[in-house]
Amino acid sequence: MGVKEEELPRAPIAMESSKSVKTGSWRTFRPEIDKEKCSKCYTCWKYCPDTAIDIIDEYATVNYDFCKGCGICANECPKKCIKMVRQELE
Ligand code: SF4
Ligand code: SF4
Repeated sequence: MGVKEEELPRAPIAMESSKSVKTGSWRTFRPEIDKEKCSKCYTCWKYCPDTAIDIIDEYATVNYDFCKGCGICANECPKKCIKMVRQELE
């Protein structure tokens, strides 16, 4: 008793690899890191579900090409030095 392919629900799929599809344009809010307060613990880097945080010159740095603005990094930052600010239309 199998399910035929044509009976399966339609679902969106990416036509290219996730590296070539810059999903940051979906954002409503963007995280901004205050480096003065950052302790370089990298908790934000560990928690970001989109791997949109890179470590550059020892500091967590948001890659806005891929950050979707979920706010998890700001929520998890123990120093509370990530602020979510409204994304301006570009
Ligand atoms: S979680 Fe906060 S304190 Fe830790 S590296 Fe990220 S921005 Fe810095
Ligand atoms: S807002 Fe979300 S997607 Fe963007 S850097 Fe933070 S955790 Fe990652």
